[in-house]
Amino acid sequence: MSENANQTNASTEQRLLAGVPTDLFIGGKWVPGSDGRTISVEDPSTGATLAEVADATVADGSAALDAAVAAQRDWAATAPRDRGEILRAAYERIVSRADDLALLMTLEMGKPLAEAKGEVVYAAEFFRWFSEEAVRIGGRYATAPNGATRLMTIKQPVGPTLMITPWNFPLAMGTRKIGPAIAAGCTMVVKPASQTPLSMYALADLLAECGLPAGVLNVVTTSRTGQVVEPLLKDSRLRKLTFTGSTAVGKVLVGQSADQLLRMSMELGGNAPFIVFADADLDRAVQGAMLAKMRNMGEACTAANRFLVHRSVAEEFGTKLAERMRALTVGRGTEDGVEVGPLIDGRARDGVAELVQDAVSRGAQVVCGGQTVGDQGYFYAPTVLTGVPDEARMVREEIFGPVAPIGTFDDDDEVIARANDTEYGLVAYAFTRDLSRTLKVSEQLEFGMVGINQGVVSNPAAPFGGVKASGFGREGGFEGIEEYLEVKYVGIAP
Ligand code: NAP
Repeated sequence: MSENANQTNASTEQRLLAGVPTDLFIGGKWVPGSDGRTISVEDPSTGATLAEVADATVADGSAALDAAVAAQRDWAATAPRDRGEILRAAYERIVSRADDLALLMTLEMGKPLAEAKGEVVYAAEFFRWFSEEAVRIGGRYATAPNGATRLMTIKQPVGPTLMITPWNFPLAMGTRKIGPAIAAGCTMVVKPASQTPLSMYALADLLAECGLPAGVLNVVTTSRTGQVVEPLLKDSRLRKLTFTGSTAVGKVLVGQSADQLLRMSMELGGNAPFIVFADADLDRAVQGAMLAKMRNMGEACTAANRFLVHRSVAEEFGTKLAERMRALTVGRGTEDGVEVGPLIDGRARDGVAELVQDAVSRGAQVVCGGQTVGDQGYFYAPTVLTGVPDEARMVREEIFGPVAPIGTFDDDDEVIARANDTEYGLVAYAFTRDLSRTLKVSEQLEFGMVGINQGVVSNPAAPFGGVKASGFGREGGFEGIEEYLEVKYVGIAP
């Protein structure tokens, strides 16, 4: 890239960053943190500070809940069409500002611009979907079997909701929660990941521009996460927690929510098997593998974590996958042609390096990659490992990086058993052209989602979510709004 182009980019970045709010968003106002402390938001491709954002105190968290509680009654009484129209307007505004939002996301999170733009559009689609769902909240009316009474059900908003989101999809993990909550008539306090709050602040600003009333959405970022969150979970005015993040933190939050028996949705970690049967279209499987593994640099709960390939095609699959992985361009996500950005921080990069060393020490062979890249930022090379034994740590743990471990299998029952042999149950992928096999794996894989001949399952119109240690609850689809609604039954004697 020419020096001139770099200069232009730097000034575009400065202009963009200067326009993003960095205070807390409480009761429709941007307010500094009550003790004046800030959190540095870092560019993971350079380690440079991009912005300083307000660091919420316990009192700020409580003020955000006060605002959500104060807004709840009027918001629940707002006409569904009006709630839907705000979401629709926000959908259109996000799409029209997709380039700026994508650049902001790339700066704070690292993913390449094209992928960031993909996430922005995907995130917006949740608003479009739920703008359509807002006006379809139904109930039912029936005559009791004995004819003596009438049964009526109505659906009402759950109430003020706390939303905690991770850094890997800074916008979409928010809109998957905010969209249905707005549609259902819930108010909310959003706590974005402290490493990537800027995208969420840009979204809050945009929603306010689209007419979302003050207090419906409040956003607080904090470095004192546990201290700020726990009192909110114990506050009897809070009615629901929805969390996307690691299983370890999810378990802590479930424990803290027990006192109040809070409604909960938990979108937690994954350990996706990616199964390639002997009859698969191998080119399609390699294409699917690139998506399932390399989307977001492998930093996705849905990332293919274990490749299980039929012995008869394993060598060919491994060679083709390594060819594609080797050809990827690693670099700062803002630069032309970059396909793989940095990992989120030094700890994440070192964790990936440790998992690779562990696998190699147990006999795995490095086909490509296997090392960090560059001396600034947190880059790790796209890596393919073969001969990875089931005892390797990366077979059990989330890799969360651009590393594809390939193991082999001999028959269908064996591979299904190995695929299910994990505490997690978010998503599994299978490539086959055989209908009976498709049905068998779809039914027998113990995961909340199964992708057949495709490497991406995320879709705003589909129920996203896991089983086992991957959590419970669904986001998107017809199911997504139900997470924010209570069913009330009214018995009416005629
Ligand atoms: P994380 O460490 O669990 O953090 C997620 C969120 O929880 C962040 O906002 C974080 O805040 C907050 N948090 C951390 N400790 C907390 C505590 N004691 N009390 C309350 N909140 C707390 O996870 P991550 O590393 O950001 O994200 C990666 C994980 O998310 C992976 O396991 C991935 O599989 C999972 N994930 C799941 C899905 C899904 O839909 N199933 C989607 C995406 C990611 P701070 O940033 O302030 O620490």
